[in-house]
Amino acid sequence: MAIIRVFKFGGASIKDAAAIENVVSILEKHKQQKLMVIVSAIGKTTNQMEEVVKHISNKTLALEKLEIVKQNHLQIVTDLGLSEHEGLMSDLNDLLVEVDWALDEYQPEYDYIYDQIVSIGELMSSKIVNAKLAQSGFSTKWLDARGVIITDDIYREAWVDWKRTSENMHSKVKPAFENVDILVSQGFIGSTTENNTSTLGREGSDYSAAIFSHGLDVQDMTIWKDVPGVLTADPRKFKNVTKLDSLSYKEAIEMTYYGAKVIHPKTIKPLQNKSIPLYVKSFIDPMGDGTFISDEVIEGYPPIITLESDQALISISTRDFSFVAEHHLSYLFQEIAKHRIQINMMQNSAISFSVCVNDIDNRIEAFTQQIQQDFKTIVEKNLELISIRHYQNDVVEAMKKGKITMLEASLGKMIQLVVKEIPKVERI
Ligand code: ADP
Ligand code: ASP
Ligand code: MG
Repeated sequence: MAIIRVFKFGGASIKDAAAIENVVSILEKHKQQKLMVIVSAIGKTTNQMEEVVKHISNKTLALEKLEIVKQNHLQIVTDLGLSEHEGLMSDLNDLLVEVDWALDEYQPEYDYIYDQIVSIGELMSSKIVNAKLAQSGFSTKWLDARGVIITDDIYREAWVDWKRTSENMHSKVKPAFENVDILVSQGFIGSTTENNTSTLGREGSDYSAAIFSHGLDVQDMTIWKDVPGVLTADPRKFKNVTKLDSLSYKEAIEMTYYGAKVIHPKTIKPLQNKSIPLYVKSFIDPMGDGTFISDEVIEGYPPIITLESDQALISISTRDFSFVAEHHLSYLFQEIAKHRIQINMMQNSAISFSVCVNDIDNRIEAFTQQIQQDFKTIVEKNLELISIRHYQNDVVEAMKKGKITMLEASLGKMIQLVVKEIPKVERI
């Protein structure tokens, strides 16, 4: 069996016909290799599909939103000269009809219906990319990720059943490579054991690529981005950023956990577990070196800054003045886990406990409601978490400017600040 490599292309890299042609030209440089190609939905399709789901109670409006997605995809198909490509238009139409049916399906569970509808974005993009590759003379085949990645039924944030998924990689994906060089599949989506479509969480396509890499024991994985590689901070928020040529898995997992949006945080573990190196490269400058992530230990990192918005600080204290000691903490952690709340920082005193968490949906409200009998809670929202790894004091001071620091902690090489903007005082 030849060596397999995994390439993942995100929404920005396939946003229109020219972008898809650029992807084809990147793949031209890797002809004759066995490539597992994972694609996200085209451009901002996932956001547009979320609009369809939001209007589920008004089918006319939902179909209007779907029409925007349909027209965008049809335009790209035309621009790529694929209108007559065998089976493509009927495949795309079938997928759009599935959305129509899903809108009719009575289903009280919003998250379930969300996954059935939003997943169509990746199914359509992968059909189009596969057709373009076939038209360009590649030996390629479309593969349904839902026949491979098996998950639980926690819709919108499904967890992978690694055993079943690995079996499928061996029984379905590896043999498929015997007849073709490229398999094109979808990021973000999987299937429950009941054959319902599930999704792995927003921005989850990097993670899908890592699941395929793990299951196929590939040589390496490359994610193609709109940046030269992993930078010392998000270039959309900071001016003086530099590229990190190489990173250890440990450094990468810490950065992504605390908000470096360039790689989905769940991506690193499956790769680390099999020592599969990860390249982060630019689809704009494909010959650039990018960033190389591996188990190599690297010394002398510059300060690396990550920002995570939508943070909330929950201050919890006992109503009867008893200590927040082990048995209380154990109960509180249990409830936090049950409500799928991610803790980013915590601190405790004799009778109080403060946690900084991601503010998602109404999870905090459900949690505080649950514990209210024994605990008083104060919740402060709209905060930002700043994490600086390999920090220097001048960088920390600069980050604090114009902000109120609510919580600060340092551990080893990292300092973290939970901050809020200083409110603007009205001049009289
Ligand atoms: P995809 O196309 O795969 O969805 P994303 O848009 O999710 O890619 O990720 C790329 C974006 O990540 C960049 O455009 C950049 O703004 C952002 N980003 C955040 N932190 C970093 C960082 N430390 N280095 C590089 N890019 C970063
Ligand atoms: N299309 C999905 C999203 O936008 C997954 C991804 O792009 O990684 O969230
Ligand atoms: Mg993305």
